[in-house]
Amino acid sequence: MKNRFAPLGAILSVLGLLAWLFSGSQNRRSPIEVEGPVASSVPAASNDVPVLRERTGGSAVPCVVPLGWRIARVDDSFGLSHADARAAFDKAATLWQDAAGVGLFSNESDGALPIRFVYDDPRERTPGGSQLAGMYREAVHLQAGDVSSVTREIRIYHFDGLDELVSVAAHELGHAVGLGHSTVPGSVMGVEFVQVDLSQATPKVQPGDVEALRSVCPELWDV
Ligand SMILES: [Zn+2]
Repeated sequence: MKNRFAPLGAILSVLGLLAWLFSGSQNRRSPIEVEGPVASSVPAASNDVPVLRERTGGSAVPCVVPLGWRIARVDDSFGLSHADARAAFDKAATLWQDAAGVGLFSNESDGALPIRFVYDDPRERTPGGSQLAGMYREAVHLQAGDVSSVTREIRIYHFDGLDELVSVAAHELGHAVGLGHSTVPGSVMGVEFVQVDLSQATPKVQPGDVEALRSVCPELWDV
């Protein structure tokens, strides 16, 4: 006997597929997961959900120093202790500060720049299939056209050894204070630091990186 309901079944299958696709796309667009307070500077009265966006061009609110950072999350899969994660970022911050000669970062337990080590999140893969080593993201909150607060975040996805982690950390910290990517060979802000494979790179905060920072944040040297 022929199944009279076959067309109906086909329609229901298509509807089910559409529903599944829709829920999937919603998941991909869902806000980032949040552990604890996003940032101490976000007003409690604000009920807008911050949408953090990648800022490869550097922070839209640069030169906020010293920028307090904290290790907010280290996925177990990294096999990295919080202390080691903190030490790597400390080292990266010191690279900048030694080169620039001004205080730029401070490690604070309630720092407004949380750093999250997120292991191998497929949603963060780039279209070309390569994977990001790290990312700086932020959301700028406006009140009556003025910036009322900034939600910042650094995500670390991949690194091969602690030296490479320091490089990725220095790169993302550079974005956080306002720097975009550099085309100067050997620059810690070089776009190659976005990629996982840093084996060819010798990361350093170069004089050119400090010059870039000076042009973005001249006031930091006005003492
Ligand atoms: Zn970058």
